[in-house]
Amino acid sequence: MAGKDYYEILGVSRDASQDEIKKAYRKLSKKYHPDINKAPDAEAKFKEVTEAYEVLSDDTKKANYDQYGSADGPAGFGGGGAGGFNGADFGGFGGGGFEDIFSQFFGGGGAGGARRNPNAPRPGRDLQYEMSLTFEEAIFGKKTTIKYTREATCHTCGGNGAKPGTHPETCHNCGGTGYITTETNTPLGRMRSQQVCPVCNGTGQEIKEKCPTCGGSGNEQERHEVEVNVPAGVDDGQQMRLQGQGEAGNNGGGYGDLFIVFTVKSSKTFTRNGADIYLDKTISFVQATLGAEIKVPTVHGEVNLKVPAGTQTGATFKLKGKGAPRLRGNGTGDERVTVRIVTPKNLNKAQKEALKAFADAGGDKVEGSGKSGFFDKMKDAFDN
Ligand code: ZN
Ligand code: ZN
Repeated sequence: MAGKDYYEILGVSRDASQDEIKKAYRKLSKKYHPDINKAPDAEAKFKEVTEAYEVLSDDTKKANYDQYGSADGPAGFGGGGAGGFNGADFGGFGGGGFEDIFSQFFGGGGAGGARRNPNAPRPGRDLQYEMSLTFEEAIFGKKTTIKYTREATCHTCGGNGAKPGTHPETCHNCGGTGYITTETNTPLGRMRSQQVCPVCNGTGQEIKEKCPTCGGSGNEQERHEVEVNVPAGVDDGQQMRLQGQGEAGNNGGGYGDLFIVFTVKSSKTFTRNGADIYLDKTISFVQATLGAEIKVPTVHGEVNLKVPAGTQTGATFKLKGKGAPRLRGNGTGDERVTVRIVTPKNLNKAQKEALKAFADAGGDKVEGSGKSGFFDKMKDAFDN
């Protein structure tokens, strides 16, 4: 992954906030999602954008990437981690080349980056909800209410984890930093290492009396209800995002989002491709020969279709605007009706005689005889 400019991929500046990075990622992941974007390189772009976001949204990986151009930190030294060395602590060596070598060797900068602010807001997780729609619901949209269980901000303590009437206090062990530093003498000088404070687990705060509802976590499970407006024209596999309907974050980090993924059931009558709807319609050979006005189902109700005289089986007619709406108000697709001519079976005597008379009158001559439809069309043009 080295060499890629993750900031450029997401289209954000180097000092972009986590919020801006998240926004850019959402926009691009939606744009390139393989379910939505059928361009041949969409999937590769989607993966690239996801990779960029995975690195830039993670404090440790981002710090590594900023310093080393790789989320893994300097080559060969893994991810640093909280127990690593902080290169900045070696200023005593005079800022010369030695410090540089040393900090590179021990992955110092990477470890420094790992030292995140324990009280920094962390946004909540996004959730996914699968919604099944009938063929018609997908075309016309619908309003519905969904229910799901999610991690929410505790209603008793408001998220701080302390029993009502009490407050979280600054951790006595680490003084609120969330880390404790130990110093060791080595041949190279005094070295400091940091560890997550075991008393507060890195939060920097100590809750003496925990909230009885959430046990100090600040979050609790809730049964959540959301009204969803399914837009008219959604298709199988598409998704929509409901901002803030995901899970609660920590330290006031806000809620994640809910992604609703649609699965659309097939229809017994129609098939659909994007905004266009397809229908096979059988007609009698008399209707095909003499022409007829037939009734045709569409998702918008039955309509009359004029089948011209001399219609061949497989001919397709377009019913303009009788398809599915295109999302974002870009008009409506069409319905395409393909007619199939049924050869009659089990004729009664009168029918047989009528057909024999038809044949005797020259009606059994085959027109077109396997030639391309072009000749049929020419003939039709002259006949009309
Ligand atoms: Zn609570
Ligand atoms: Zn502590």
